[in-house]
Amino acid sequence: MAQVAIANVAKAFGTVKVLHEVSVDIADGQFVVLVGPSGCGKSTLLRMVAGLETVSGGTISIGDRVVNNLPPAKRDIAMVFQNYALYPHKTVEQNMAFALKLRGTDPAVVAERVKRAADILDLAPYLKRYPRQLSGGQRQRVAMGRAIVRNPQVFLFDEPLSNLDAKLRVQMRTEIKELHQRLKTTTIYVTHDQIEAMTMADKIVVMRDGRIEQVGAPLQLFDRPANLFVAGFIGSPA
Ligand code: ADP
Ligand code: MG
Repeated sequence: MAQVAIANVAKAFGTVKVLHEVSVDIADGQFVVLVGPSGCGKSTLLRMVAGLETVSGGTISIGDRVVNNLPPAKRDIAMVFQNYALYPHKTVEQNMAFALKLRGTDPAVVAERVKRAADILDLAPYLKRYPRQLSGGQRQRVAMGRAIVRNPQVFLFDEPLSNLDAKLRVQMRTEIKELHQRLKTTTIYVTHDQIEAMTMADKIVVMRDGRIEQVGAPLQLFDRPANLFVAGFIGSPA
């Protein structure tokens, strides 16, 4: 596990500034939620932590390493996306094993890690199935399984539940929190959903238009919002 430090990080696409020197400190084992309206820069910030976007200014550190110039594979992170991105022609087991195999991990270790992830996520009965034979919730679990088997220092989630129906979203929220309580992996979780932020976060970062409006524990933001935007955003679920 590791702490993550985002220090004065800025991002411009061409001449358009989409992030203005944002700073966030994430403690070892903490579950931090980045929340804000669509287009405010959440995914861009997360993708910079993942190494999928370059940084226009500032530094990102994971553990005691500045990672600005490291490719994604060297950052010891695992990212779970909204659209799962499972391989349709691979079984559940193969989907979970693939990234480890690519890295040349010992087959016995791969098998052991896949088994452990399948047990944690209740996927053991489905290992030989293909993604099309699974429910939406099961597919989301496979996507999480792929992240877990890598034993990363940091989990990054980008709106992982937004394709699921309301009932399943509530269930998966609980599952992701239980997973975090079990593994204690440092997590950055992006959502535009206030309820997700309020129920899942140790610490919430409220963003608007490429800036941070407020950082705090859920109740702190609810009881003492820094401004009307935070009050409106946290106080009135979409
Ligand atoms: P969010 O995830 O909060 O919805 P994003 O991080 O996806 O927001 O986007 C922030 C802003 O950056 C938006 O205005 C978006 O249009 C812009 N943006 C994102 N990616 C690119 C890109 N590759 N090129 C140009 N503009 C981009
Ligand atoms: Mg986004």
